[in-house]
Amino acid sequence: MAEQGTGRRPRVVIVGAGFGGLNAAVGLAKLPVDVTVVDLKNHHTFQPLLYQVALAVLSPGDIAQPIRSILRENTNTEVIMDAVVGFDTVERHVKLKSGAVLIYDYLILATGSTHSYFGKDEWAKIAPGLKTIEDATEIRRRVLLAFELAERQKLETGAHPPLNFVIVGGGPTGVELAGSISDIAKLYMTKDFRHIDPGTAQVLILEGSPYILGAYPEDLQKKAVEQLNALGVRTRTNAHVTDIQPGYVMVGDERVESVCTLWAAGVQASPLGKLIAQSLGIETDRRGSVIVDDHLHPAGHPEVFVLGDLAHFEQDGKQVPGVAQPAMQMGTYAAKRIGLLLEGKGDKQKPFRYFDKGDMATIGRKAAVARIVWPFHANWSGFMAWLTWLTVHIFFLIGFRNRLSVFRQWAYTYVRFRDGVRLIIGSQELPGWDSLASSENQVTKDDSKA
Ligand SMILES: Cc1cc2nc3c(=O)[nH]c(=O)nc-3n(C[C@H](O)[C@H](O)[C@H](O)COP(=O)(O)OP(=O)(O)OC[C@H]3O[C@@H](n4cnc5c(N)ncnc54)[C@H](O)[C@@H]3O)c2cc1C
Repeated sequence: MAEQGTGRRPRVVIVGAGFGGLNAAVGLAKLPVDVTVVDLKNHHTFQPLLYQVALAVLSPGDIAQPIRSILRENTNTEVIMDAVVGFDTVERHVKLKSGAVLIYDYLILATGSTHSYFGKDEWAKIAPGLKTIEDATEIRRRVLLAFELAERQKLETGAHPPLNFVIVGGGPTGVELAGSISDIAKLYMTKDFRHIDPGTAQVLILEGSPYILGAYPEDLQKKAVEQLNALGVRTRTNAHVTDIQPGYVMVGDERVESVCTLWAAGVQASPLGKLIAQSLGIETDRRGSVIVDDHLHPAGHPEVFVLGDLAHFEQDGKQVPGVAQPAMQMGTYAAKRIGLLLEGKGDKQKPFRYFDKGDMATIGRKAAVARIVWPFHANWSGFMAWLTWLTVHIFFLIGFRNRLSVFRQWAYTYVRFRDGVRLIIGSQELPGWDSLASSENQVTKDDSKA
């Protein structure tokens, strides 16, 4: 703690400027503390709209904003772009990759989660997951490239490999990706190609559990599958993926050909969870999340907070889910708690309680499922759910400029059936394409094209 009479104000170091970290920084703006926000990126990413970038509806700039500009008005706050690589929780130091060290009185850790390939990290190159802007533009590159290569191949040889897209994982991200790939193939791209019919593209979700959208109520799970099927997306549950190779996925002994495989199956806590736990001498849960008490502290450490996806917080006997709302509410709570602790009133604060407003997942251009808990209870599906999803996501997007631009882009896409960001940037290699293109199992005649 800052020493009395030295004139130094207590320093709060926030690691991670996602939903949790940013909300904490906003809450600390008016307190008598100095704040350092460290993030390995220079921007905050609105992850719920990442798949819209991956599927070429929105641009990266629509859903991300520089952290520095978001916190510009917080005169007590500095922003450092660097990766945190370690902690000395005895000396209260945070170690940065650059070699610099930050001293803290309070530490807020909110570095989120990352993909888990269940120990098969070699699959990551073949089947990218979706977590960052870089992931989204890579997925966009692969999906668009598959159509381009098919067009070129058809022109050259009169045939092309079937445009099969395989998504591993039937949670919200898998469902959103699948619906959107089907939409762009069937609705937006059909007029753009002369030799292939993009509408013949097949999208398949492989889910290991018995359920698509397993965290949703049963009626919404069923509606989701119906809406996916209506878009031409096939779903297979109890489908355990045993191998992923360029050009195909193995489900047990069965080989499923795939021009583009995407990973939406598993998440684990950011590696900083294990590092802080080692330094504090505490345990993590099996996903590497830090177990926190009612006030969001790891046991016995009131100077440390762990928030959002990195925290394992239980309420009413269940772990609070890794979604944006808990992270935001935890950020606000931690900032408030620091204010009270500084006044010696920490014991006056009630334990943290997550206020669940519900959750939603979109399924393509105009369908969604929504479990609404606040301001009323309802389970919606279809167009109404999609409109609710759209309104909520535009409302929560950080920054007025982004909201306006996203709304305009969506309206344009929706009314004109166009999507404007179909840019292929980077390599023109698609893993597995060459072997698929040389195999005998080719499409020679696309239904509607010469
Ligand atoms: C594709 C996708 C779709 C989603 N859709 C929804 C949705 O529709 N609704 C919903 O509620 N939730 C959704 N989520 C989940 C939601 O985005 C997360 O729960 C939320 O972002 C968690 O917030 P957080 O603050 O814990 O971490 P994050 O928002 O992930 O932020 C973590 C920050 O830490 C930084 N960081 C990581 N490691 C380091 C390091 N070593 N040093 C410095 N900085 C570091 C990162 O750069 C990042 O800025 C989605 C997530 C994804 C990936």
